Amino acid sequence: MSAKKNILIVDDSEFVRNYHAYILEQADFHVMTAMDGSDGLEQLFANQCDLILTDINMTNMDGYEFIRRVRAVAKYDSLPIIIISTQSESTDKSKGFEAGANLYMVKPTTPEVMIENIRLILSTN
Ligand SMILES: [Mg+2]
Repeated sequence: MSAKKNILIVDDSEFVRNYHAYILEQADFHVMTAMDGSDGLEQLFANQCDLILTDINMTNMDGYEFIRRVRAVAKYDSLPIIIISTQSESTDKSKGFEAGANLYMVKPTTPEVMIENIRLILSTN
């Protein structure tokens, strides 16, 4: 049995998925990846997940819709969700929080800040 926390990365950029996965694995998290919101929902429903790190701009299903659909499922009421997006407008952030995100990070961020935020949210959840 592994005590590693499972993090689901949802991003349409393969480069970003791999980069974030590398950062999280270096910090001793177990990582799952999905390429858009609908893929993310499939991954979430099929696996144990402790936290979601999601992009906003994705084809097929964007991050807002993905988060709304996650929050619509009672068992994911308090699952920590972090948005990481290049969109830095306050309206984007508002939409993210309205959809149900716990935190909004703007890309690019540093690995240190990302890990710090994830650990903080996991420890208070
Ligand atoms: Mg994107």
